[in-house]
Amino acid sequence: MSLYNDAESILITKEMIADRVRELGAELSRQYRDKNPLMICVLKGSVVFFSDLIRAMDIPLEIEFMAISSYGNSIRSSGEVKVVKDTDKSLENRHVILVEDIIDTGLTLSYIKNMLERRAPASLKICALLDKPDRLQVDIEADYVGFKIPNKFVIGYGLDYAQKYRNMPDVCVLNPKIYNRQP
Ligand code: 5GP
Repeated sequence: MSLYNDAESILITKEMIADRVRELGAELSRQYRDKNPLMICVLKGSVVFFSDLIRAMDIPLEIEFMAISSYGNSIRSSGEVKVVKDTDKSLENRHVILVEDIIDTGLTLSYIKNMLERRAPASLKICALLDKPDRLQVDIEADYVGFKIPNKFVIGYGLDYAQKYRNMPDVCVLNPKIYNRQP
């Protein structure tokens, strides 16, 4: 059965994503030339975007990975997250680019950003593939955004629902029947 059976519609096609990633890569390459940026991928949702983005950049850079998880179900209300895997390298005096999949309420990003800022990077910028401006609850903005999207639950291109759909090449709107279904 196709993964696409659970999608209500395709919101952003793989061609649109490829074009935008190319633009973002070119812009980051211009702005970080000679800065050897440290690019941090926030697992797991960002991994597909991250791997395309770094290959769209033609300057020297280094990569790091972080994994976070929410404390129970509190992520939506408090944004309090637990670091499951931290970066291996020090961020001190580095030009850091945090790569996120999606900004929804902004609580997760705000938490991670505050945490990383305490590690004294030379600069810290945020690059997010998707942004849902209607849902934002805190005063935080990504410095680089792929697409602004409406308030719909999306899957694909790294984004999951119950760990599924990450391998879909397009960003799709999940059919609400899937998350309304009783176990
Ligand atoms: P925030 O703290 O900004 O509310 O939530 C950010 C996190 O919630 C994202 O990193 C992502 O894991 C998850 N999230 C928010 N909106 C969506 C969505 O539409 N689809 C998926 N798959 N995950 C989402």
